[in-house]
Order: sequence, then C-alpha cells, then structure tokens
Amino acid sequence: MEKLQQLYEGKAKKVFATSDPELVIVDYKDDATAGDGAKKGTIRGKGVVNNKLSNALMQKLEKQGVPTHFVQELSDRETLVKKVEIVPLEVIIRNVAAGSFTKRLGVPEGTVLKCTTLEFSYKNDELHDPLINHYHALAMGLATQEEIDTISRYAFQVNELLKSILLEVGIRLIDFKLEFGRLPDGTIVLADEISPDTCRFWDAKTGAHLDKDLFRRDLGGEEDAYQEVMKRLLG
Ligand code: ADP
Ligand code: UDP
Repeated sequence: MEKLQQLYEGKAKKVFATSDPELVIVDYKDDATAGDGAKKGTIRGKGVVNNKLSNALMQKLEKQGVPTHFVQELSDRETLVKKVEIVPLEVIIRNVAAGSFTKRLGVPEGTVLKCTTLEFSYKNDELHDPLINHYHALAMGLATQEEIDTISRYAFQVNELLKSILLEVGIRLIDFKLEFGRLPDGTIVLADEISPDTCRFWDAKTGAHLDKDLFRRDLGGEEDAYQEVMKRLLG
C-alpha cells in the first residue's frame, strides 16, 4: 500500500492517505511534547517503539474481542490502519493516582484507587482538552449515549487485558488514555495508539517510571525506558 498525500501532521504522528479511501497510513515520529506543548523535544527511537508496541498490543486486544483500527505494520514507523472519524474524547482510565488526578484532587501519587476510574476530556487543543462528564459529551453532540456506553465498556475491558499483559513482564499499569473512532458504518473501534506516550507504566519491583513522565518531568533516561518496555513486551 502506497503513501499518498499527507492528511494531517500531529505532535507525534503523521497521517497519509492511500489509494483505498477507507485506509490511512500512520507514521510515528520521535517528536515529544509535554505541558500542553510548552515543552518540545525528541525521544530518540520513540517512533519505532510506539509503532511496534501499539500494534502488538492492539493485535492482542483484537484477539480478545476489542475491535481496533489496526490493519498491517508496514515498516518500523509506519502502519496501515482503518480510517476512522475520531470521537473527540480522550478516554482516561486510572488504577492508581498520578498526574492531573493528583494535582486536581490532592490524592498522593501512587495511591491505589478504591475502584478504577474513567474520565473524558474534550479533545480540543485550543481549549486544552478540558475535563468533561458524559452529559457534556451528549449535550455537545460529541457522541451518542450508545457510543459512550460502548466506548466505556471497551475502555474497562482494555484496562483488564493490558494490566495482565503488562504484569507478566513486571510492569504496573497506572493510567492511560484511549481514543476511539467510527468506521463508515458507524462501528466504534479503538484507534490512535497505546504506548509509553499515552500510558503510565511503573516498574513493578522498583516503581521506576517507564514512560513519558521521564521526559515531562525532566527526569532523564526516557530513551532507555522506551527500549526497555519494548524489550520486555516484544522480546
Ligand atoms: P495530536 O493530534 O494530538 O497531535 P498525533 O500526533 O498522535 O496527535 O496525531 C495523530 C492524529 O491521528 C490524532 O489526531 C488522532 O486522533 C488521529 N488518528 C488516530 N488514529 C486514526 C485513524 N485510524 N483514522 C484517522 N485518524 C486517526
Ligand atoms: N494522556 C495522554 N494524552 C493527553 C493527556 C493524558 O496520553 O493529552 C495520558 C497520560 O499519558 C496518562 C493518562 O493519560 O497516562 C492520564 O494523564 P493525566 O490526566 O494525569 O495528565 P497529565 O496532566 O499528567 O498529562
């Protein structure tokens, strides 16, 4: 499948048209941003890690009944995916308090939550992806009740599957962000990526960060951490 014109360049990926109007090619970059774009940099090798990891995880999820956009890995950084209309919601699942949950609610980072939480942000860069509830999503017509139910069910299912896949390789899944899209017939599928950019991974033994927080917080070692996650999951 050949790359045709570029449809979009985001912060971490480029999206290209193909000769099939229902398929696009995603090309993963090493570019990294944090703090709403305030911090910009690169994490060498990140694009390759995120491409391969996301594909491997999506294939495992697909086998367990979660439909995804994945079609075929084309190269180290490029993947053929089903073109979707992205539902403009960032779906965030949390098992352990961290990041904005800690900042906003004062729950110390690392606190194991009494139940898993799901939250939505309105995917809108200008508004800085504000936190919304499902009534806001309905009121704004971002998704239907049926779509929200499907998305929520898939998100919790993804959490259970990912937690166990990761724990087998000594990684705790703290929280993560998912994006979903609509196929032309309206079917909801998991889209975008699942990677150390979009998840918090802590080493199960040492508690060390194995994710983008190393970059966000200027802790260093992010390149090695991304390689480590890939090595543990893909051998
Ligand atoms: P951002 O837009 O936040 O800077 P990226 O750099 O990751 O993010 O850009 C990738 C873009 O492609 C995102 O806007 C994402 O929602 C979108 N996207 C992901 N998967 C698909 C898909 N299967 N079809 C169409 N668009 C997609
Ligand atoms: N996340 C993401 N993209 C975003 C915001 C969050 O992938 O635009 C992920 C982030 O990596 C973390 C989870 O969602 O795994 C929860 O992030 P949080 O709300 O704590 O945001 P922070 O302010 O820490 O980025």
